Amino acid sequence: QRMSSDEIRSAFLQFYVDRGHRLVPSASLVPDDPTILLTIAGMVPFKPIFLGEREAPQPPRAVSAQKCVRTTDVENVGRTRRHHTFFEMLGNFSFGDYFKRQAMVWAWELLTQVYGLPAERLAVSVFESDDEAYRIWRQVVGVPAHRIARMGESDNFWASGPTGPCGPCSEIYYELVPATGAGGNAVSAEAVDLGDDARFIELYNLVFMEFNRDATGQLTPLAAKNIDTGMGLERLAQVLQGVPNNYETDLIRPIVDEAASLAGCVYDSAAEDARTSLKVIGDHTRAVVHLLADGVRPSNMGRGYVLRRLIRRLVRHGRLVGVDGPFVAEVAEVAIRLAAASGYQQVQRRREEIVRELAAEESRFLSTLLRGEALLEEILQSGMPVVSGTDAFTLYDTYGFPVEMTQEIAGERGLQVDMQAFDQCMAEQRERARGQSAFHGAGDGAASHRHAVRTVAAAVNGESGGTRFVGYD
Ligand code: ATP
Ligand code: MG
Ligand code: MG
Ligand code: MG
Repeated sequence: QRMSSDEIRSAFLQFYVDRGHRLVPSASLVPDDPTILLTIAGMVPFKPIFLGEREAPQPPRAVSAQKCVRTTDVENVGRTRRHHTFFEMLGNFSFGDYFKRQAMVWAWELLTQVYGLPAERLAVSVFESDDEAYRIWRQVVGVPAHRIARMGESDNFWASGPTGPCGPCSEIYYELVPATGAGGNAVSAEAVDLGDDARFIELYNLVFMEFNRDATGQLTPLAAKNIDTGMGLERLAQVLQGVPNNYETDLIRPIVDEAASLAGCVYDSAAEDARTSLKVIGDHTRAVVHLLADGVRPSNMGRGYVLRRLIRRLVRHGRLVGVDGPFVAEVAEVAIRLAAASGYQQVQRRREEIVRELAAEESRFLSTLLRGEALLEEILQSGMPVVSGTDAFTLYDTYGFPVEMTQEIAGERGLQVDMQAFDQCMAEQRERARGQSAFHGAGDGAASHRHAVRTVAAAVNGESGGTRFVGYD
């Protein structure tokens, strides 16, 4: 009997509620924090508590299923089995209460006892110098030495951004394909390579949040030792539902199937590229529906630009897979139905508005997409070694191609975009806009400039490389 994703989510929440955690509903994707562009992890709403800026709740424990958007993973969408832009992060949190040992013991108990994952298929990583975590896995939990990997800062030191609360972490991986033998019993005694994506999938990250990093990079111990954890619901569903990737779980598959039917194909027998596009549609549809439900509207900067980029990618992948004409409203209806059934009431309440906004943005883009594609094709076939900044700017300004999309399409053909020249074109456009706004009253330009600067800062702090500043609204 396979667990549905709703059952998987409930089991997580109940496990920690039973252990004294308060159930906290998912916060908005738009954080109440000017330094962060979008909610990228379950800890974001609790950041002030970790930093000691807000008093810890009583009891000092929380559990949540937090919706997240990570634009930094957009290139992985549809290509890896495990990455999305939008996903749900299951997390348990301790604010100066329990620490390492308890968090590790519970995480292991949850995976093996509640979800029934065979212990011999699990493996863990610890931060290279974290002997304490190593010893707890080894001696308290009983993980064999060859199933514990010591890893460096990039994988096992977690931070929500360049500054803020952070600390060493320990991750639990599931072995999708046992190294030897069938049935998952005969596992080799070789040291595990957790970077082997074909064999291992990272499920659960336990962050031992002990430090605050300031703007100079300096780490100072936080007043309290905290626990911050995260486990992707879609990944757990992949493993528990026995499907080859997150997109085939009950969370996303119905959207993929709807897209396939609109395109007149069948996912299971579709070619590799078509499958990738169908997965992108499955992912981006969820992302844009939830972003719109949380009040984000398409625009040319900040969060609005993230949304615009995702909608335009969605439209483009629809065309790539052979959908003719508008389709976004139809896949969105499926995503809305799924979200509503999982308890996202705001999505249900704002259903009409979401569909209307999507259809409007889709038609704005569709009206120029064909001509833009033709122009880009011409450029790509011209034999030029790079796509010039002026061409990329024309595609952006006249045809509505987010420059990241031009980069991506060019990249698929082995070409680069002259981004320096593109940025120059953008700067010139801003100058022109400033000149114009002087006619409409002094101050406008300065105010929007300040706004723009803040947005850039937010983008950089929140998700490095996650978004670009591309002009005024
Ligand atoms: P990976 O190494 O696989 O990219 P990560 O180390 O970047 O994952 P964390 O920041 O540790 O991920 O996030 C905690 C958990 O959230 C992960 O263990 C995973 O289960 C889930 N998760 C992270 N990023 C994504 C994503 N883009 N899509 C779906 N789930 C994700
Ligand atoms: Mg990652
Ligand atoms: Mg990782
Ligand atoms: Mg991780």
